[in-house]
This record gives sequence, structure tokens and C-alpha cells, in this order.
Amino acid sequence: MRIVPISLPTPFYIGPVNVYLIAEDPLTLIDTGPKTKEANEALREGLRHERVRVSDIRRIVLTHAHEDHCGLARSLRDEAKDAEVLVHNWETGHRMGRLEDAMHRDLLARSGVPDSEIEAMRRMYEGMRRYADSFEDHEYGELRDEAELEFTNGALRVIHTPGHTPGSCSFVREADRTVIAGDCVLKRIPPNPFLSPDPIDPSKRFPSLAEYLVSLARLRTFAPTLVHGGHGAPVNDYEELFNRYLRAIRERQAEVIRLVPKAGTSAWNVSRAMFPETDDVHRFLAVSEAVAHLDLAHSEGKLAVEMSSGKEVYQQLFDG
Ligand SMILES: [Zn+2]
Ligand SMILES: [Zn+2]
Repeated sequence: MRIVPISLPTPFYIGPVNVYLIAEDPLTLIDTGPKTKEANEALREGLRHERVRVSDIRRIVLTHAHEDHCGLARSLRDEAKDAEVLVHNWETGHRMGRLEDAMHRDLLARSGVPDSEIEAMRRMYEGMRRYADSFEDHEYGELRDEAELEFTNGALRVIHTPGHTPGSCSFVREADRTVIAGDCVLKRIPPNPFLSPDPIDPSKRFPSLAEYLVSLARLRTFAPTLVHGGHGAPVNDYEELFNRYLRAIRERQAEVIRLVPKAGTSAWNVSRAMFPETDDVHRFLAVSEAVAHLDLAHSEGKLAVEMSSGKEVYQQLFDG
């Protein structure tokens, strides 16, 4: 069972995205790239190199439903006729568009994001929709944790690795401890923990960073020898990455805690202090990161949080 990485251009800040052809019966594509002419052409070129046509693809598996990973899923599926598309059920919020749902916007309002900023973020994500086709719920098959994707020779085990998004999944070939991890593992820096409604109770926030730490530890139990991420080069030393990520997360947490003044403040204010230069496009990511770290610090008993006129105000535990 050969895993063939194909790098595709994206119009996004993150740069090219990696998709993976599993060159084995049934022919499977993990992630698709964004819905752009450039990505589409690069994908076809990559497949041609393997003597594969889009119409030969039988299965399209999505690590998560961000535009750079899922954008071409529908058109490829249509071209491949009966190819099935698989994604984790918890990706609903993302694949149906971010910030279109009032509950999602409420989470931002509670974090202290001004209405005008929320509206700007919503418009930005509306613009992003052109890079991906949305699917109806019944058009997806469900990726279940611990399920096996079977091939004539070998299998990939589905590991639900939430954090970057609630429904992010990784795929483990246990025979040689190779992992395809989507945006759960990126060689350079930990991925952004996107602010998302909790799939179980959408009035709550998904505890993205706490879940992410569990996912990193879970992947570690497989003692990976090679990890293929969603962007950038593969990772050969997972242990080094694991420790580096934990250090980076702890350092960021300490910084976030230091940015909370005695009088208390909102996640939005913390995000502006962390990333004062951030332009419109990245303010959602900045507030996502602040919220994720504040939530984790709160759940670890390092900060207090209080509701004040509909907004969460984080506070130091002790005066001093
Ligand atoms: Zn992503
Ligand atoms: Zn990505």
C-alpha cells in the first residue's frame, strides 16, 4: 500500500497543502486541495504521474473540512461517479460554513469581539466559501474513531484527533507506524485551535486546546516513525515534535496569563495584545488562539472567569 504525497498550491497564507493518494485498491485520496484551477491542475498532474485518473478514485477521505483540504471534494466525487466521501461527524460546523450560524457568532461576542469585527469575520469567511463546495449531510459517510479503512493490501486505522477542528482525523498504518495527520501535525508550529461550537452542545465552546493535547498524546502511543502533515515536510522525529509543541503551548500559556490585568479582561483584548499587528483576515485566528489558551488556563485552575454583561472576563486568581 503506497502513500503518495501530492503538493497543491493554495491561495492562503499557509502555502501549499499536501494531499495523499493511497495507490492501492480501492483507490483513495486523502484530502483534495482547495477549489481553484491551480490546485485542480496540480492534482491531475500528480495523479497522472501515478497513472491514475480522477474517475478511478473510489474513496475520498477528509482529514477535516477546511477549504484548503476539502475544496475539490464534491467535483472530484461527481467526476469519479460513485466514490464515497468520508469525514468525521463533528466537522459539520466547518463544512457547512463558519460564522453563518448565530451560535457561532455568539461565542465570539461572549469573548468580547465587537459586533463590527464579528461582521467583518463573517464576511471574510463568506468569501472563503468559493474555495469549497458544501455538501448536504446525507452526502457524507462517517469516519469513526478506530474504524479501519481497508485496502487489498493493508489498512489505515482512523484516529479521531480533535483540536485544530473538532472533527479532525488522522490515519495510522500500524505495520510501519506511518501516520497521515492532516493539520494535527505540522512540522513548524502547532496548528491554530479554531474557535468552534462544541458539537455535543453548540451553545458551548469546543475545548480545542485541551482536546489537542490529548490528540498529540494519543498519536504518541503509536510511536510514529513518519508523520505526513497537511502542510510542509513530513516529520521523522515525532518525539522531538511532541516535546517542542508542548513547550511552545506552555510558553504561550504563560504569556497569555501575563496579559490578563488585575482588573480582568476579555479574550478579544488578550488577542489584540498578543497580535497587535494582525490584519482583518487573521483576527479570527488570533482570537481563537487567545480563547483556546485562556480556556485551558481556566480549566487548569490558573485563571478565573466571570460573566459580565454577556461577556467573559478573565481574571487573575490572586492579587499580587
Ligand atoms: Zn485546517
Ligand atoms: Zn490546512
